[in-house]
Amino acid sequence: MIHRERLNLPRYIYPIDEWKIIEKRFHPEFLGQMETLFALSNGYLGMRGTFEEGTPSTDPGNFVNGFYESWPIIYGEEAFGFAKTGQTIVNLPDLKIIRLFVDDEPFFLPTADLKQYERVLDMQSGTLRREIIWQMASGILVSIKTERLVSFEHRHLAAISYEIMVLNTRAPVVISSEIVHHKTIRGSDGDPRHARLFKEEVLKPEYQSAEESRLMLGFQTRSSRMRLACGVDHDIASPCPYTCKSDLSETQGKMVFAIDAQPEAPVRLTKYMTYHTSRSAPVRDLVDRAERTLTRGKENGFEQLLTSQKNFLGEFWRKSDVRFESDPQQAKRPAAEWQQAIHWNLFQLLQASVRAEGVGIPAKGLTGEGYEGHYFWDIEIYVLPFLIYTEPRIARNLLKFRHSMLPAARQRAREVNQKGALFPWRTITGDEASAYYAAGTAQYHINADIVYALKKYVEVTGDMDFLYREGAEILVETARLWRDLGFFSPSKGSKFCIHAVTGPDEYNTVVDNNTFTNLMARENLRYASRTVGRLRHEHPQLYRELQDKTSLEDEEIGQWEAAAENMYIPYHDGLGIHPQDDSFLDKKDWDFEGTPLEKYPLLLHYHPLVIYRHKVIKQADLLLAIFLLGNEFSPEQKRRNFDFYDRLTTGDSSLSVGIQSIVAAEVGDLQKAAKYAVFAVLMDLADVGGNVSHGCHIASIGATWMVLVYGLAGMRDHDGRISFMPRLVPGCARLHFSLSIRNQLLEIEIRPEAVTYVLAEGSELTIQHDGNEIRLSEDTPKAVCPGPGAGQNG
Ligand code: BGC
Repeated sequence: MIHRERLNLPRYIYPIDEWKIIEKRFHPEFLGQMETLFALSNGYLGMRGTFEEGTPSTDPGNFVNGFYESWPIIYGEEAFGFAKTGQTIVNLPDLKIIRLFVDDEPFFLPTADLKQYERVLDMQSGTLRREIIWQMASGILVSIKTERLVSFEHRHLAAISYEIMVLNTRAPVVISSEIVHHKTIRGSDGDPRHARLFKEEVLKPEYQSAEESRLMLGFQTRSSRMRLACGVDHDIASPCPYTCKSDLSETQGKMVFAIDAQPEAPVRLTKYMTYHTSRSAPVRDLVDRAERTLTRGKENGFEQLLTSQKNFLGEFWRKSDVRFESDPQQAKRPAAEWQQAIHWNLFQLLQASVRAEGVGIPAKGLTGEGYEGHYFWDIEIYVLPFLIYTEPRIARNLLKFRHSMLPAARQRAREVNQKGALFPWRTITGDEASAYYAAGTAQYHINADIVYALKKYVEVTGDMDFLYREGAEILVETARLWRDLGFFSPSKGSKFCIHAVTGPDEYNTVVDNNTFTNLMARENLRYASRTVGRLRHEHPQLYRELQDKTSLEDEEIGQWEAAAENMYIPYHDGLGIHPQDDSFLDKKDWDFEGTPLEKYPLLLHYHPLVIYRHKVIKQADLLLAIFLLGNEFSPEQKRRNFDFYDRLTTGDSSLSVGIQSIVAAEVGDLQKAAKYAVFAVLMDLADVGGNVSHGCHIASIGATWMVLVYGLAGMRDHDGRISFMPRLVPGCARLHFSLSIRNQLLEIEIRPEAVTYVLAEGSELTIQHDGNEIRLSEDTPKAVCPGPGAGQNG
């Protein structure tokens, strides 16, 4: 059951269009939500969808992934090993601002008389466009056309084309292109999921320059000592006479164009924007880099940037699109609505990851400050499956980034008195930044989640080089942690038990033998012993190098194996289900009937202890294990576990409903699978969680791809064996998508009557359909199998 069945953002805001999100009217009541939904990003830099004028706005946000400020975490009561330093992504000077004055009157959306208004996020051109006709009290009609992009090709570059035209008379027009420094000091809203608030200004000015049409600023963060250079440059194409003047302070700047505008004579200003950051480079170096980016941007010109953006997206959609068609007779929602939502979700995955080089993916991407710009397990469990099957290069970058965190993870393991390495529950730098250990550091499963993603990456891409070099080191250190953390418990028949951990469900914390954790740890230990064992026998040189890096002893491999093979997996014979942990079944029932909708999410209305003593679940935990490690459960166990846990799951985390949809599909509850799929796919577009204004939910967005591929198409890839068991939900008439598997391209088309597999690129691939093996090759690249509805209709 999902207890938050609300679509908070009315769908009329954006009429249905497969490739566009269109806002037909100015909606001041949904400002924050639309700032998130219209955000542009390339995984390195992100700009929320605020208006060029800068106001009105709820959360003007401009971010560079990994650019953070640190602060000492103050605990009311300290304890040994608590995380010490918080990290928060910094809201950067806003380079986008362009204010407009016509006849000395400012253009201000809430009061302007608008004859026409349209804002469009175009997912084929990768731009945010706006077209307005403003009728002034004096009768002057003004046309304003803007188009904005954050370049996928040029990692540090964004640009705006701003075209203004007075339609019916001559008028003095002033365009003030500005750099505005929004205060980073704000009041608290009491929501722990929002970002931290600073008491003093984070960015210290270090550099300013204004030359010709260019403004440059340099800063250093007060405590983390990171550096930032940012700047803007302009091109103006004006058939009318104009003058230009600049003004610069330590933190802000403007370039003011005063134009004697003639009727029907369009004036176009192009603004190029850049951010460069570094932990070590001096500000002058960064400014040089930023200047080079601006010069290149200007040389390219806006049209060329548009073309490159479009080409980039063409290639992305070719590989990553998921087509969904519905049967108009049966479907509650038109296919184009599904398709629009699917496209928006996939577009967000691209925006969050494509230029995330040497950094992770924050829980909100770069669309908001929620969760402080931190990286969680969201990357490995929710986003990497999509990337592994569509953009393996990016998947590799992200895993490599995790590998680069190993020194900090080793250090963290020492701080919590453990051997091996413990990856941080939430972080930017690699150091643990969660100040609440019960729902933070205690989520040791992060180690196994990373290994789970590593294993999937290697199995799907065949990248053994990565496994044997970076991967093996991760395996040794994570396996060591599990072996050291757990123990052979006499009270459980000498089985290997893991105590005092928190599983994915943050409503049951610091528990013994969380089944998810034990299963995932077992997988981690097995993969480590198998891989390192193979290295030892087949690649002795690499094994010795691994020993040098990790001080590995031969006998450790056997110890990991013993822990894995004796892992305690809780099971209740009477109920035929897997208890979520040792204590879960003894807890008091939660009064779901007596809990009104406004009390969700429970975490904002009940003391944690109240939640912890009840049988109530924030997000899929055991159900997630059923999905990730489905080969460890029988079909009957899956069904019974689903029936038991689904009704206890609030879905208070957006990470839940997609997983519940996938498991519902697997156990044959297609009505529920369909209903949950709708919530997953519309999670952000309809603001199901009610907090999309904080930024979009990248994990849940990753889950929408999984709902389609693992849920509807019924794909499973346990141990690298790819199988499909399609189960189209009622109303779905066609599903089509592609997967990249070991450099080959597999296309899958599912219709009720037939499923077609095509090896579009590559020479040989073996898969399974409904339990039957299918070999695709250059000679026979296509196989047609009976569809999930075959036999039902005729
Ligand atoms: C969820 C976590 C998740 C985090 C960031 C929390 O609400 O419980 O599982 O990692 O959000 O998305």
